[in-house]
Amino acid sequence: MTTQKDSTHNNSSSRETLIKRMSELESQGKDCSGCPGTCCTFVSNSMMCTPQEAMDLYLYLEKEKRITVDFIDKLKLSIQKYKLSPRYLSEKSYLRKTYTCPLFSESEKGCTVSRKAKPHGCLAFNNHDPLKKASEGCFSEQHLLEEIKEHEFKNDTLNLGWVKAPIPNAILELYEKRNLISNL
Ligand code: SF4
Ligand code: SF4
Repeated sequence: MTTQKDSTHNNSSSRETLIKRMSELESQGKDCSGCPGTCCTFVSNSMMCTPQEAMDLYLYLEKEKRITVDFIDKLKLSIQKYKLSPRYLSEKSYLRKTYTCPLFSESEKGCTVSRKAKPHGCLAFNNHDPLKKASEGCFSEQHLLEEIKEHEFKNDTLNLGWVKAPIPNAILELYEKRNLISNL
């Protein structure tokens, strides 16, 4: 997926595997240049993330001082606009739906999040054909995601689990939990 390069530090070997693969594809001309960011908008984005991925994303945004009132309003608007509410509130179970990611920059036609913090699914979805840019040659390397899931499953020491949520819901939920704790 279209992405921002930077040097934020993160030790996740899973993420490093995906970033390495992404760089490899880019070095072969299989990149996102010329694409309007189709896989990040409602046209084809239905990205969901695990609690651990949501935490990585949240901590990154917090560090970047991007957890603002305006941003939280943007998350709520996304949830409302694309009807991303959970099917059953008690279970927080989500249907996969398309939406424009609130972390996508319309003006730059790209993601505003470090590769060191974005969900694994975003990193695994890439262009694989240098002659077919702007989404026609793009797909997700599921085998890489499966390998990573297997590895992380063994290392889920905090027992965070694997129930996935759309990105706006996942970030908003963490924000609300943190607010709740700080108000105790
Ligand atoms: S649709 Fe393909 S080319 Fe476009 S941003 Fe996503 S991965 Fe890159
Ligand atoms: S975090 Fe959002 S904007 Fe960034 S690559 Fe994923 S879906 Fe696209």
